[in-house]
Amino acid sequence: MEVLWSKCLEDIVNQVLPENYNTWFTPTSPVSYDGQVFTLGVPNEFFKKYLKENYSSIIESSLQSVSGTPLRVKFKVYSARNGTKVSYEKHNYIETDEQNHLDFKPSLNQKYTFKNFVVGGCNQFAHAAAKAVASNPAMAYNPLFIYGSVGLGKTHLLHAIGNAIHEKNKKLKIRYVSTEGFTIDLIQSLKKDGMNAFRDRYRPLDVLLVDDIQFIEGKDRTQEEFFYTFNTLFEAHKQVIITSDAIPKEMRKIQERLRSRFECGLIADMEPPDLETKVAILLKKAEIQNVKLTEDVAIYIANNIRSNIRELEGILLRLIAYSSFTSKPINMDLAKNVFKKFSQDHQENFTIPNILKQVATHFNLKVSDLKSKKRSRDISVPRQIGMFLCRERTKSSLPEIGREFGGKDHTTVMYSHTKIGKLLKENNEISRNVQTLIDKIERG
Ligand code: ADP
Ligand code: MG
Repeated sequence: MEVLWSKCLEDIVNQVLPENYNTWFTPTSPVSYDGQVFTLGVPNEFFKKYLKENYSSIIESSLQSVSGTPLRVKFKVYSARNGTKVSYEKHNYIETDEQNHLDFKPSLNQKYTFKNFVVGGCNQFAHAAAKAVASNPAMAYNPLFIYGSVGLGKTHLLHAIGNAIHEKNKKLKIRYVSTEGFTIDLIQSLKKDGMNAFRDRYRPLDVLLVDDIQFIEGKDRTQEEFFYTFNTLFEAHKQVIITSDAIPKEMRKIQERLRSRFECGLIADMEPPDLETKVAILLKKAEIQNVKLTEDVAIYIANNIRSNIRELEGILLRLIAYSSFTSKPINMDLAKNVFKKFSQDHQENFTIPNILKQVATHFNLKVSDLKSKKRSRDISVPRQIGMFLCRERTKSSLPEIGREFGGKDHTTVMYSHTKIGKLLKENNEISRNVQTLIDKIERG
């Protein structure tokens, strides 16, 4: 049981943000396991509710992939007094909502609805397009291609469309799949000689929701199979909705025929939220969690998180967890404390070697390219972005940064910093790349 759980944790740590992992998974430990139900011990009721609503499916799919059989997860609060685990009360062994969770056909996150989605100038267009598709699947826009950088609500909208369609017509076959999930499914089907079954899973669908299609770049076999899946559905007038952190035009390593499919419907972008939208989202999330959040605290958090809504939510949840641990109310003092810790965690990842490494990986280059004297655009722009990030996010001086970039002059660093700073305001591709990089570096 312990081994099973520790293997699951290894799997889960790769799927959730480090701060969420620390907050929600570090304090857990296995309580019992009977071959069908895996019971996990958690510190308090709030944890129980939160894990159940937000992480059940991740935990269950990890349990399944580690153990090889489908398992259900249940949560159990530890006894606070002596740290021992409370014995299990039989009468609530199987709760109906958890049974329904198994029966619920389209594997959609039911929290991600239109109702829970805050509309602001930044996402208005994507939201309207998503609504239109949800009311008229395969009639409005097909495919609908939603793009925007990480944490701006693409996955949320995708599920919202699925949920709304399911709500209206329970008979429609809806499937949500991440591009990685699609790839894994494909590889396993190829291995097991199960391609017919694979095709049966995708081709009879009415609605296919595909998340994070950018991961299909460079994967030829997946692209080929996805192309056929797409065509089958499209020709049968079935709805396909795709999300991505890049527009098709910017996806370099995809087949041309796939690119033209992505472009033939509607492309809707999502922009980072402004302050008012961030505040509105925080208040909404707090309301959903049933906690009181004052506007000054919401504004404080919103001001301190640039744009990533997932991060915004992460902070709020930390705040709630912290306040439930310490029985302190959520106020400015608590917010400032939690924030200090959060910023320190993130700041530590911004070192010059780490920035070099992440920039190189992000642009498919080698660190040595960034340090070289090569001046072609595909190297010089990433190099300038790297210098910009070092200047913005580390305490190193201009000459130090220049040295770390293979002995460049400090004026070069200064020039890069000014240039990228200016481009951030004018050029979407640059600003998305910088945003994604900051996100990747923060996550470590
Ligand atoms: P993405 O898929 O673009 O990386 P997600 O859809 O996972 O982003 O969103 C990250 C988190 O932010 C989710 O918990 C989501 O519910 C929340 N979120 C994003 N946009 C909004 C919004 N407009 N209103 C409410 N919550 C939002
Ligand atoms: Mg997503």
